[in-house]
Amino acid sequence: MSTIRFKALETTLSRKPVPVAEPAERRSELFGINVFGTNTFKNYMPKEAYNAVTDAIQHGKKIDRKIADQVASAMKAWAISKGATHYTHWFQPLTGATAEKHDAFFEPTGDGTAIDKFDGSQLVQQEPDASSFPSGGIRNTFEARGYTAWDPTSPAFIMGTTLCIPSVFVSYTGEALDNKTPLLRAAQSIDHAATEVARYFDKNVNKVIATLGWEQEYFLIDSALAASRPDLMMAGRVLLGQQAAKGQQLEDHYFGSIPERALAFMRELEIECIKLGIPVKTRHNEVAPNQFEVAPLYEEVNLAVDHNSLLMDVMSKVGARHNFTVLLHEKPFAGINGSGKHNNWSLATDTGVNLLSPGKTPKSNLMFLTFFINTIKAVHDYADLLRASIASANNDHRLGANEAPPAIISVFIGQQLSEVLDELERVTDGNLSPEEKTELKLNVVGKIPEILLDNTDRNRTSPFAFTGNKFEFRAVGSSANCAKPMTVLTTIVAEQLRVFKNDVDALIDKKGYKKDDAIFNVLREYIKASKKIRFEGDGYSEEWVEEAKKRGLSNLKNTPEALKVQVSKESISLFERHNVMNKTEIEARYEIELEEYIKKIQIEGRILGDLTTNHIIPTAIRYQNRIISNVQGLKDIFGKDYEEHAKEQINLIKSISKYINSILNDVEAMTEERKKANKLDHADKRADAYCNKVKPYFEKIRYACDKLELLVDDELWPMTKYRELLFTR
Ligand code: ADP
Ligand code: MG
Repeated sequence: MSTIRFKALETTLSRKPVPVAEPAERRSELFGINVFGTNTFKNYMPKEAYNAVTDAIQHGKKIDRKIADQVASAMKAWAISKGATHYTHWFQPLTGATAEKHDAFFEPTGDGTAIDKFDGSQLVQQEPDASSFPSGGIRNTFEARGYTAWDPTSPAFIMGTTLCIPSVFVSYTGEALDNKTPLLRAAQSIDHAATEVARYFDKNVNKVIATLGWEQEYFLIDSALAASRPDLMMAGRVLLGQQAAKGQQLEDHYFGSIPERALAFMRELEIECIKLGIPVKTRHNEVAPNQFEVAPLYEEVNLAVDHNSLLMDVMSKVGARHNFTVLLHEKPFAGINGSGKHNNWSLATDTGVNLLSPGKTPKSNLMFLTFFINTIKAVHDYADLLRASIASANNDHRLGANEAPPAIISVFIGQQLSEVLDELERVTDGNLSPEEKTELKLNVVGKIPEILLDNTDRNRTSPFAFTGNKFEFRAVGSSANCAKPMTVLTTIVAEQLRVFKNDVDALIDKKGYKKDDAIFNVLREYIKASKKIRFEGDGYSEEWVEEAKKRGLSNLKNTPEALKVQVSKESISLFERHNVMNKTEIEARYEIELEEYIKKIQIEGRILGDLTTNHIIPTAIRYQNRIISNVQGLKDIFGKDYEEHAKEQINLIKSISKYINSILNDVEAMTEERKKANKLDHADKRADAYCNKVKPYFEKIRYACDKLELLVDDELWPMTKYRELLFTR
């Protein structure tokens, strides 16, 4: 065994769980103690300032300078009382990660003394040195700098000794340079559109928010083992490796008892999260060995996105304390399940109603059906945009890999609701007779069980499934920033609700329909028009791929293909109509996502080149030389009869040569393709080339390396193996 591999294993085997003392306080008492939330706000701030901020959060009102000063001074007092020394605007640049630049409160006054300074201007606006964040050319085009601005709708929190202020990141010309700004704009748009529609049913509704509950999957790998694999360290996934004799086929890990070391990590993670106000609630093993999931209670979408970004950061920090490398990659290990991040999504009113939850009365059920059918219609009309929102080099490995939803977008709603929609589809064209209306209300709409939750089939193969009181977007990748898919989903549903309102009002105003008749008529047409997006069968099957093709649904298998729709005329006009993003912002994001894709494949190609030339091939040659000496020895002993004794050894020598040759040829050919790709002038062409010309070599190279792994003496093999990575505890 190579020294590196041996040491890594030895270290791992000697680990004990890092003890985590459950704090003296109960978790309920710890919740939010590091958050400048509503209660802290009240204690530290004058009532006037408190009301102004609440107004800003609830009604989007501006906060003036005087109030900002009061908030800043309260935040500073609170943060210092909790031991904070620095503050930072915490934001989500288009890299998908989070960014922070810490400044000290401490400021010398010039007369030999110093004060703690933090006022309204520092709270409201900061200017990070933004030149190294991707901007897709926005800053170049406008020669503008970027600044961060406080987002009062997401509370400030303390990480370590730093006060973190959730912020947006925009250029001086107003273009969003981050993931949060478009999401906030989409949230505003759906508030407007959904409130208007909800008021058909309930005049008390004045505000609608989108809600998100994410479920984060991840792998825990011992950090010594992870460090022994250059591919895991640099690409987040193994590029080589023969599967272990035992994988996940026994299904003994899922929901099984959590290994002690992992449990210690989870406990500390949960305590950290709870202090930060992230309402984590669920933890369990996932399907693959060493794969786990953590999920919180749902929250308002912007806050939930912040909390997920924060969680991913906290996970790696806590992981390090427990000697774990946390893998958030969508597919760290080919051959076993990858990781996703289900996005549970719904709409909630300020009257406390979940608009995607069936109600108690026919009227509230009609409201439910309205939002339910409009969401399906939105997914039908904008399936490709939704697909684009989850496209990444990582997620390409997972979607359609027989364990994750396919790249084909479809909606699963379960048998009961399918039957309801079938009934509604038969509603009379025009005004309904009183009998028909009664029948509908009592026997169709009225029969929707109040609690569908227990009845909904659990179709795990659908990318977008209704699960009783919310839709679950399952195709989202584990390392993604949820802001992207949430911005798209929220915008397309806002658009659909806007269209719905127009359609219903037109029937009322121009054709004299009664409101309910108009709603039934419009819903009927939407059910018909969106039928092809509904699929109740096995999304993993070959038949579905065929069937989807017949239905005319897209099957965009790779990122460069999937991303293109974002810059279509229709998409740009959609996002502009809702003030979510303008053309410049959309094109910038497209550019950045293509570049990110290209870089990822490029890096993986380089790592593969290095691993094969410097690790795999030298090892294979060493082993081959040993066999050659053996054959030579046999020749010395047996003379010309040696072949009878050395037949298999000679075959082995030949096999090794074959794989060495194929690896060397493929690595060279791959490098040539990279060079060609790099010369292409447009990012979309480069991305296509990396996808279709460079990437296909990865599998060929891996195949030959994995064959060598099976042939070469385990003692010589330099790379830590699957069984060691996944089964050492
Ligand atoms: P599962 O889907 O695993 O059976 P649950 O239905 O309890 O589990 O919820 C899974 C996730 O869905 C949780 O994060 C939960 O907070 C979230 N969720 C539940 N209701 C809503 C809602 N109305 N809006 C958004 N997310 C929700
Ligand atoms: Mg779920």
